[in-house]
Amino acid sequence: MSDTLRVLWTLVPQRAPQPWLHCSHCGDSRPFESSTKFRLNANGKRLDAWLIYHCTACSQTWNRPLLERRPAAAVDPQLLAALQQNDPHLARHLAFDIEDLRRRSARIEVFAEALVRRETLCICGTEPRRLEIDFAVATPLRLRLDRLLAAELGVTRSRLHRLQNSGRLVLSAPGSRWLRKPPQDGWRICLDLSEERDREAIATAARRSQ
Ligand SMILES: [Zn+2]
Repeated sequence: MSDTLRVLWTLVPQRAPQPWLHCSHCGDSRPFESSTKFRLNANGKRLDAWLIYHCTACSQTWNRPLLERRPAAAVDPQLLAALQQNDPHLARHLAFDIEDLRRRSARIEVFAEALVRRETLCICGTEPRRLEIDFAVATPLRLRLDRLLAAELGVTRSRLHRLQNSGRLVLSAPGSRWLRKPPQDGWRICLDLSEERDREAIATAARRSQ
């Protein structure tokens, strides 16, 4: 289409997911939060390493296993240095590794707070009549798509639902009630702006860099 604005929105979560675990001090299941600190233990030629979590209610620790009885010679020296220095980038990366967390806990709490990084992929014409938004979502978020779109595009949620009901707001993937669900990696929404008087404002909001 010659009058389409296509943008990529990368959603960057601001709070790491929290595993729910049994806290021996509280005597109940509690969400645990990463301390961003590592614990490293050398036993002969073998290494153990953990990322330290704290119970959010009482600060009881949980050591999340990273390396278990690993031969020291087999550990990447850069990884070892990062663990020894409590490298914050490594700690953040691991804290957001939800697949590994799922192996440790049946219940993972995820949060809604996300930064939206915008990138314009294609702008054709001076006044776009169609807006396409691609989503890149590396870590799951507990964030409804209609809330996100309303906040980021400056439109009401009821208007978004009206647009969807009239077929002018569509999702590339199959499914129902998707406006109420968290956006998924690879989703694309298409919004027909041809009848929207404020289409310029919406298009500007869609590509505004933060
Ligand atoms: Zn506790």
